[in-house]
Amino acid sequence: MNGQNPVFIPGPTNIPDRLRVAMSAQTKDHRASDVTKILGPLPEGLKKVFKTESGRALIFPASGTGGWEAAVTNTLSPGDRVLAARHGLFSQKWIDLCQRHGLDVDVIDRPWGSGAPVDLFEERLSADTSHEIKAVLVTHNETATGVKSDVGAVRGAIDAAGHPAMLFVDAVSSLGSMDFRMDEWGVDIAVSGSQKGFMLPTGIAILAVSEKAHAAIETAKCPRCFFDFRDMDDALSTGGFPYTPPMQLLLGLRESLDMLFEEGLDNVYARHFRLAEGVRRAVAAWGLRMCAESPELYSDSVTAIYVPEGFDAHALTNYAYDTYGVSFGAGLGEFAGKVFRIGHLGALTDVMVLSGLATAEMAMKDLDYPIELGSGVAVAQQYYRETANAARFKAA
Ligand SMILES: *Cc1c(COP(=O)(O)O)cnc(C)c1O
Repeated sequence: MNGQNPVFIPGPTNIPDRLRVAMSAQTKDHRASDVTKILGPLPEGLKKVFKTESGRALIFPASGTGGWEAAVTNTLSPGDRVLAARHGLFSQKWIDLCQRHGLDVDVIDRPWGSGAPVDLFEERLSADTSHEIKAVLVTHNETATGVKSDVGAVRGAIDAAGHPAMLFVDAVSSLGSMDFRMDEWGVDIAVSGSQKGFMLPTGIAILAVSEKAHAAIETAKCPRCFFDFRDMDDALSTGGFPYTPPMQLLLGLRESLDMLFEEGLDNVYARHFRLAEGVRRAVAAWGLRMCAESPELYSDSVTAIYVPEGFDAHALTNYAYDTYGVSFGAGLGEFAGKVFRIGHLGALTDVMVLSGLATAEMAMKDLDYPIELGSGVAVAQQYYRETANAARFKAA
């Protein structure tokens, strides 16, 4: 029966029944004349989620990592300089991917738990008077640390420096759960995936690409084939695919977009804020510390929490799974053993989150953490009660 429990890892997320039903489809000939009906509406729907009118939405069969690779190989050449901050495992992995493609990454190391260093970006860009830096990389939501960065402020820094660099954003664990504004923030490429806010299995990398980034293909010399933007854009714009599409996942994506729009994107974001706020209050009641350094950095899709001195976070997440059949996120990279994470994005309600908080409390109590059973659950219950009326009409 443990398979009935929701997961509280920050991706892949819980798959709602409606999406599982939509994906349970027989094989369909991807060259059949009516396939355009499935593929055709996807880019327009995705553009609404990215909040872009001028950009193009592209999808590739891949995980989010493939999306990073697509962004880099379509727009840059080996030896090109890019600017990035390293402040969590995901920003670190994107930097590593760039380096393996022969890019020269200007890395700004920042403490894990901090956000994108807007001032330092502006400093580096202002100093780069010959405009060698071709792109600035930002991880909108650092899933390892539960930190949300201010993408609009990074755009402000690029503009203040009068620099022509493109702005690439990893929005894998924010798109579809936290507000994203591609056009307003002047984002050139945003990368996401199917398995987080879209509530689907892993398997589709989802990108939005500005005119400027799309034009960069003409001069970019990194090798690419499978992830070629032009091939995919040409195919999608005629309702087709450049190779065999993952049809069942695409049926799921179409249904997922319907679900997001039926709830309303603003309501989806408000739901995520409310769920996250309940978790944050529970963490405070437990007397534990969050990794995110300050409240404006708090992520609404994942909360990363330090375990008290002398405790092993891996033992906690393993114990919760082995004993209660509930998954929480482990600490990653330099946070291994020190941090556990509660993922609260995707198909979740306050009732489900309360079950996660209650389970975390049981596991911590069993392992002799200095917490009081029910303390976090009680404050979350109180907050969810106080905010239930406003949420009720939106949730349906
Ligand atoms: C999940 C995630 C990714 C993508 O990882 P894959 O395992 O390749 O799908 C990238 N960036 C962030 C911030 C993520 O949370």
